[in-house]
Amino acid sequence: MSIAFNQISKVFADGTVALDRLDLEFDRGEFIVLLGPSGSGKTTACRILAGLEQATSGVISIDGRDVTRLPPRERNMSMVFQNYALYGHKTVFDNIAYPLRVRKIGRNSIGTKVHEVARLLQIESYLDRRPSQLSGGQAQRVAVARALVWNPDICLMDEPLSNLDALLRLQTRTELKRLHSDLGHTFLFVTHDQEEAMTLGTKIAVLNEGQLVQFDIPRRIYHEPSSRFVAEFIGRPAMNIIDGEINNGMFQAAGGFQIDVENQPDGPVAMGIRPEQILVSGTQTKQTIEFELDVIELVEPDTLLFVKKGGVNMVVRVMRDMGQIERGATVHLALPHAHRHFFELADGRRRW
Ligand code: ADP
Ligand code: MG
Repeated sequence: MSIAFNQISKVFADGTVALDRLDLEFDRGEFIVLLGPSGSGKTTACRILAGLEQATSGVISIDGRDVTRLPPRERNMSMVFQNYALYGHKTVFDNIAYPLRVRKIGRNSIGTKVHEVARLLQIESYLDRRPSQLSGGQAQRVAVARALVWNPDICLMDEPLSNLDALLRLQTRTELKRLHSDLGHTFLFVTHDQEEAMTLGTKIAVLNEGQLVQFDIPRRIYHEPSSRFVAEFIGRPAMNIIDGEINNGMFQAAGGFQIDVENQPDGPVAMGIRPEQILVSGTQTKQTIEFELDVIELVEPDTLLFVKKGGVNMVVRVMRDMGQIERGATVHLALPHAHRHFFELADGRRRW
């Protein structure tokens, strides 16, 4: 029971390559997040799966069946867009009921199903209203309810939360997560927001320039990014990545410090470490490196220290109160072996 993109490419009439031989396969019941910067091909992938766009080459298959040429209405998928449109002249009830009416479901059954999904999304008390009488978040939930009510095989959501303000975005995100665990539907959810991807996805597919760069569970995307691109895209503040070279087991940062490394071959390399994995030590030890504090930012409850040494700049995220510390002060930092990442300088691939 699976959904698969097999070598899907999309070249638009003007020559733009939106997708470049995309291979992506996932099981039913998963919450798959397509994550990538603007223009990486997320919407195109979604539209090709829905049948709204034809691939230039490649095959879409569902449970082993080739559906590449199947029209959208025969694919049993629903789609929620960033600019979802509700019918302004219909009530919330009728908006949600619409896909059931189109499918000629009986009146009693419609009532039951609409109330059920409205209860799940906590919009039951607005069923008599019209869309203009709803807040942005409520309207968004109506769009989600309408997409789910007819029990589609797959629910495709293309940046559905990006028009909501920050708090509503968080709340709706939590609701989606609850909905997924309650109903077990299959979701393909598009976002450019790495935090949204990390919290919602059972698996994350990271796209860059029309190519799949990593497809994995969130924990591995965070701890074992397959490339420098993924490493920098996931996590805020972004991973520190320092260009340099290894000679005889010592990493020499370009214009900066030296540090011993374990089990790494010699040669040019970039070393990465996340701001939250760097340890601040009260005193100098054999493991610490001296940095100079450049800027300090309080992002309660954390503190961000922007430090430098020679030509190397790093950011450190400290999850406790740093007390009195001022610009120009010396900080002793340890970069634990277990949390270091190494990437090829030439192409950014992870060195395993
Ligand atoms: P995303 O959703 O990740 O932002 P899209 O799938 O919308 O990316 O677009 C991928 C690439 O394809 C972009 O470079 C975009 O400009 C281009 N593109 C999208 N639609 C068209 C189109 N109809 N004609 C030409 N280029 C397009
Ligand atoms: Mg898009």
